[in-house]
Amino acid sequence: MRFVRYQKPNLPPRQGWLSGDAVGPIEGSIFTEFRRLEAEEELSQIKLLPPVLPSKIICVGRNYAAHASEHGAEVPEVPLLFLKPPSAVIGHLDTIILPPQSHQVEHEAELAIVIGKRGRWILPDQAEDYILGYTIANDVTARDLQTRDHQWTRAKGFDTFCPIGPWIETEFNPADALITCTVNDDIRQMASTHEMVFNIYQLIAFASSVMTLEPGDLILTGTPAGVSPLADGDIVRITIEGIGTLENPVKAEAPH
Ligand code: ZN
Repeated sequence: MRFVRYQKPNLPPRQGWLSGDAVGPIEGSIFTEFRRLEAEEELSQIKLLPPVLPSKIICVGRNYAAHASEHGAEVPEVPLLFLKPPSAVIGHLDTIILPPQSHQVEHEAELAIVIGKRGRWILPDQAEDYILGYTIANDVTARDLQTRDHQWTRAKGFDTFCPIGPWIETEFNPADALITCTVNDDIRQMASTHEMVFNIYQLIAFASSVMTLEPGDLILTGTPAGVSPLADGDIVRITIEGIGTLENPVKAEAPH
């Protein structure tokens, strides 16, 4: 099933589900009990919102060997975790804003795990029970600031630096799915999820040994090789086979 959040003009945001190109509302909570109402809105007639509002966004650095080596870095012995703030989240077709502090903002196409229930010290072989579904994420990064700062909070934390969507897919097999990123139709990144250093079950186990995972939290599972700079006017599209395509335009922030 595909879960969305959406909005019609002058109405509050709603949870919904997708039936082909039609959207229907959901009553209740997608994390506990819910009821699907009839899908009678055309997808083209509503605005899709970020499909979930996470309490935290856990990210994994250097989880594809080819990406680690393009920055001259070793693959870590245990997952390298960092956080992005929830204020960075935007949805499908929302604009990525290039901040004036950076001259090198790059895309990072990633598979994102959507956590379905609270957990701590989750074992890898139980991790499946804690997954609601999957979505697509762009771990937008100010590469020059990441290199300059010893912490990555600034480089990874600007507003609009976490596009997610367009929906949550609950029937996705993460073992071997193709991730593709294009900028203005040029292919920049292409790899399979089977190239991850730590698989999604190991990542859930590791992250939950540090912090309690809450329903709606996201784990961004790392980016393959091919990250490259974004410029004003670009269109970034990330496609994950079995989920869909997340598209975002890019705009330089006006001077303050
Ligand atoms: Zn990343």
